[in-house]
Amino acid sequence: MTATVLVLNCGSSSIKYRLVDTGNGTATTQGLLERIGESGGRLRHEDSDGVREIDVDVPDHERGLREIMRAFDETGRPLAESGLVAVGHRVVHGGDRFADPVVVDDDVEATIEALTPLAPLHNPPNLAGIQVARRALPDLPHVAVFDTAFHQSLPASAYTYALDTSTAAEHGVRRYGFHGTSVSYVSHEAARLLERRLEDTNLIVLHLGNGASATAVRGGRSVDTSMGLTPLEGLVMGTRSGDLDPGILFHLRREAGMAVDDLDDLLNRRSGLLGLAGANDMREVHRRAREGDEHALLAREVYCHRIRHYVGAYLAVLGHAHAVVFTAGIGENDAWVRSHSLSGLRRLGIEVDHVRNALPGRRAHVISPDGAEVAVMVVPTDEELEIARQAISLVAT
Ligand code: ADP
Repeated sequence: MTATVLVLNCGSSSIKYRLVDTGNGTATTQGLLERIGESGGRLRHEDSDGVREIDVDVPDHERGLREIMRAFDETGRPLAESGLVAVGHRVVHGGDRFADPVVVDDDVEATIEALTPLAPLHNPPNLAGIQVARRALPDLPHVAVFDTAFHQSLPASAYTYALDTSTAAEHGVRRYGFHGTSVSYVSHEAARLLERRLEDTNLIVLHLGNGASATAVRGGRSVDTSMGLTPLEGLVMGTRSGDLDPGILFHLRREAGMAVDDLDDLLNRRSGLLGLAGANDMREVHRRAREGDEHALLAREVYCHRIRHYVGAYLAVLGHAHAVVFTAGIGENDAWVRSHSLSGLRRLGIEVDHVRNALPGRRAHVISPDGAEVAVMVVPTDEELEIARQAISLVAT
């Protein structure tokens, strides 16, 4: 039996899971439990025999994980007999404490908890998942893989905000960056597609999902990234504003009387595509734009302008890029965004071939013309597989 890793991604009201065969990288089983702590809970469990949809209300992550383990049992493939060698956990914020995945012990748990102020919405459910899974599967190593870890290679010039040094240090204020697991995965895939050694490859990775970020990768190491202390900075996102003048916050505080929580809500949940166009899903924004909705038309322009802005910046940071890589929901599926965000960059060596760009495909592929100085490519991301690989490489050594 080959070694398998159970990958767990625990959100505040959900548990996403995947059993990964690390021999060939395939998912043998995957699923999603939603609405933990609410009514109308639902578990979707999928393996090679098909999909099971189970209606089940679960009060907390502990019961949630038990229901998931029960689904494995009921399909005749108990987890205990799956060749499981480790559990990999997605953790959003590792602060400046974790530059690599780590086998979880009580100290690691305490550190993840101590980092909660940096990711108040994400680290607590990530930690709850780890605690529950360690109790349920006590004989296995549990590996935490941090979204921020890949960006711990940022030079001080890129991670330092020009703030009063002691205030910043006291409160951990610096750029951390996110989406690192995804960027790490697609960087390896991009180098493979380019037939280059990752160590000799410069990439600009555009992860465009609900959250969106740009990262400059030199030789497999992150050297600049658009998300900052929190995932709010940088590109325009589904509901987050991305970059703005911090003075806007003082202005709204003074002139509109908005409290800190109102401002947080505005920037994180009511801005981005939703704020501009009234819809946070890019497919709906396109639909409205095609009907001539001027808010949707402007939202798309702002979205692509911001991407172009970062591509130019990161070309300058890297000096030279071998490829611009699109990934995640919008990056992988939206030919319009890909071509518009890179239009007018031919003199920088960046060009999109419109026929190649329009071809759908689930596999990594190049969408720039042959002979282009900078390749443009679409690389589907796979964060769960990357977590499984990082977990196995840690416990196998
Ligand atoms: P998450 O950041 O939650 O992991 P995804 O990477 O799955 O998100 O991206 C989700 C977003 O991708 C959706 O909100 C939607 O805007 C976008 N998306 C998905 N499919 C398409 C498509 N075919 N065309 C354009 N956008 C798409």
